[in-house]
Amino acid sequence: MRIETKCLHEGYHPQNGEPRALPIYQSTTYTYDSTEHIGKLFDLTAQGHFYSRISNPTVCSVEDKIAALEGGIGALCTTSGQAASLISILNILQAGDHFISVSKIYGGTINLFAVTLKKLGIECTFVDPDASEETIQKQFRPNTKAVFGETIANPALSILDIEKFACLAHKNQVPLIVDNTFATPILCRPIEFGADIVIHSTTKYMDGHAVQLGGIIVDSGNFDWNNGKFPELNEPDESYHGVIYTKDFGKAAYITKARVQLMRDIGAYPAAHAAFLLNLGLETLALRMERHCLNAQKVADYLNSSSKVEYVNYPGLKNNAYYNLAQKYLSLGCSGVISFSIKGGREAAVRFMDGLQLASNVVHVADIRTCVLHPASSTHRQLTDEQLEAAGITPGLIRLSVGLENIHDILEDLEQGFARI
Ligand code: PLP
Repeated sequence: MRIETKCLHEGYHPQNGEPRALPIYQSTTYTYDSTEHIGKLFDLTAQGHFYSRISNPTVCSVEDKIAALEGGIGALCTTSGQAASLISILNILQAGDHFISVSKIYGGTINLFAVTLKKLGIECTFVDPDASEETIQKQFRPNTKAVFGETIANPALSILDIEKFACLAHKNQVPLIVDNTFATPILCRPIEFGADIVIHSTTKYMDGHAVQLGGIIVDSGNFDWNNGKFPELNEPDESYHGVIYTKDFGKAAYITKARVQLMRDIGAYPAAHAAFLLNLGLETLALRMERHCLNAQKVADYLNSSSKVEYVNYPGLKNNAYYNLAQKYLSLGCSGVISFSIKGGREAAVRFMDGLQLASNVVHVADIRTCVLHPASSTHRQLTDEQLEAAGITPGLIRLSVGLENIHDILEDLEQGFARI
């Protein structure tokens, strides 16, 4: 199956007389004929669902679909993208361990890595994603256990050189974890470039309709956890009566541990109804991403030629610093998010934004409806203009998430916003 077909048909294969659409199994628990069978489920020697904090048939169908889209061997849904980031790290690091993350990533992930994980004794070093391999290599320590980056960074829109980071990670015997939220597997499949684990905030394009939060962790099954650095995966798990994940589950060691140990303990598993909604989004993902890319490229070209715009940041523009990397990793298009700075600073940006009628002013991105955000008066409101500059956010910067409306309507809306300045 090609990827468009996988979006529709992977994960759920109804048998004779069964519902065509993915059913919502809205049940916390599952019945079995014998205590012996339930015992086997608990021993992980039989497969099946027993409690919806760990697995549920509707959610598992969506996990199988996304694993197939990313080219992984298994996946685990979570209640948010944040939960996916947290579990992807906690699954292989503990107090005293260290990992490396590129500095250009989602702000919420920076907080998680720099503040919350630090409180748990896990240290993160942030590196410039564009630094040379030699410079990044110097940040590895004997206790470094992972490398983390985002395919298209939110909000910087820088493109991760996945092969460079996979190569560095593997040279140091640790996995590369890639947050593929903005690209989606339609535009880029990081596993094909060497990533070991892929995560998403499914809240964004995968859901697409801004109706529910979610996240997912996908395991490539390619990383060798038996290299001596990951005893939690190849020594008996006392919290699971001596299971040895690499021995008992082979290539699925990482994703099985994430489910049966961490999800059991943390309980951030989505409800069946949320997974059902996510599946509806996934069914049209390929089609939507194609139009998001087309519309965003046209909007970026329009902004790039506007005399009212100071600069435009979109990796699909030839003058963009990441254009070459985008050609390599995002050959089908650069997704739907653009940032640009209006001449006239904060005041001009606010007048422009308030003049828009079609684009909604929301704290959200990657949605079917065009939306805008002015970081200087929302997410970064407390900062002075000088502090904003230091954070790489000019006072006139606007983040624009280009939706699926007719391109002429989007451009006309921008035009009327500019007329207000
Ligand atoms: N990763 C990226 C790239 C994001 O943009 C976000 C949220 O904006 C997250 C992770 C966190 O996802 P969620 O809001 O679903 O927890």
